Amino acid sequence: MITTSFFELFKIGPGPSSSHTVGPMRAAKIFRDICLAYFTQHPLDAHYKIRVELYGALAATGHGHGTHRAIVAGLYGQVPHTVNTDWLSTLLETPNVVYQLPFTDGKTIPFTEHDLFFDYSFNPYRHPNTMKMVLLHHYRPVLERVYYSVGGGFIEEESSAASLSTHKPTPKHVYYNMDTLLSLMEEQNLSIETVLMENEMALTNLSEPEILDQIGQIMTVMRQSVERGLKKEGILPGGLNVHRRAKGMFEKAQQHEQHKRWAEALFARLNAYALATSEENAAGQMVVTAPTNGAAGIIPACLEYLRNDCLVPDKTLKYGLLVAAMIGFIIKNNASISGAELGCMAEVGSASSMAAALFSYCNGGDIHQINIAAEIALEHHLGMTCDPIKGLVQIPCIERNANGAIKAYNAYLLAAGRLGIGKPVISFDQVVEVMRQTGLDLSHKYKETATGGLATSFGWGNMPGS
Ligand code: SF4
Repeated sequence: MITTSFFELFKIGPGPSSSHTVGPMRAAKIFRDICLAYFTQHPLDAHYKIRVELYGALAATGHGHGTHRAIVAGLYGQVPHTVNTDWLSTLLETPNVVYQLPFTDGKTIPFTEHDLFFDYSFNPYRHPNTMKMVLLHHYRPVLERVYYSVGGGFIEEESSAASLSTHKPTPKHVYYNMDTLLSLMEEQNLSIETVLMENEMALTNLSEPEILDQIGQIMTVMRQSVERGLKKEGILPGGLNVHRRAKGMFEKAQQHEQHKRWAEALFARLNAYALATSEENAAGQMVVTAPTNGAAGIIPACLEYLRNDCLVPDKTLKYGLLVAAMIGFIIKNNASISGAELGCMAEVGSASSMAAALFSYCNGGDIHQINIAAEIALEHHLGMTCDPIKGLVQIPCIERNANGAIKAYNAYLLAAGRLGIGKPVISFDQVVEVMRQTGLDLSHKYKETATGGLATSFGWGNMPGS
């Protein structure tokens, strides 16, 4: 049963990675809260230490993605949507700094880079993004938790294998995938807006105006990430010498418009908007997981195009985002939105599929067109590997977002153009299952470990920071 809420999928947080930055920060904050509860029964003295162990892809690309900084922030009690990104970027930049983590009654636990262990060679756990957090007293463990960062900032605890993201009330309308959603709508004569809004109300205990207002806040952060990115120039952090290109691309779009080259203008605008948010994400600035940080540029780009250039009304955009979220729910619940689990098709492919549904809905497409648009976009990302150079979310990620936005637009056009020719040969649910199976077949080298493909090309080597 799909119980994911819009606000679990679309979360505000710092870049560059939802699984490697947002998830670990949330897990560290959860562990800190467990420690705080422990200290109500046990006095905090000078003999406590905290140790954090990172395994799998979380270790392999943790440095490039800023996982170490996110964990320190979480242990400080910070949460992704309010953390100061300037402060975050300074953490662990200077060797041998001792951070005094504040706990109870003004007492602290010292924490340094030496309390973080990156195990690059062996992952004894069942998930590729694993972190183990241990509270030690006199060097003996007194509290221990293992967390999986399962993509999009979602966290599961190893012992429960259940998402810790929120409580799980029952949705009003039960569906599992696209087929069951379509059946439900047909049998009960429900619109997609009714199904999604009534489910969101049941899952969040909020009213429709409150939900629309909060969706508006998410849209504002998305729009701000585009606007900031369009103004900035210079080189992104991380040592790859990657230049920001959103501003220049936007100027190109305006030149194309002056010369009435409308096709080039459309592509350049979508490119510019997607580059803008993706560059902000790569720089560690505030973005929205959509559904992940690596793919955070696609939906804001399409939304900005619909809002700014097509003048689509605000309420339509908000319901369009709910429809996009529905596509993300189905993918997350039947496959994955994590690059570490299934490769980039699960991140950029999912975002492009969601954006295709957004385009379709906002242009008047019914649920069948929306379904087909989402299927086309996802199908044409199948097999896409995740091999970010130096573990940074820059190459290939930034351009991949621009292409994901363009593909979403074309998927909407292809879906709209097949009206009246019956059901497609391949269904959305089948493509989701093919993505799952293809991702399982992919070598771990192509699943956010930076040990294959582009990441090891041209002498970059395969180690974080190399
Ligand atoms: S290659 Fe794709 S999945 Fe991998 S980090 Fe980049 S955007 Fe994310």
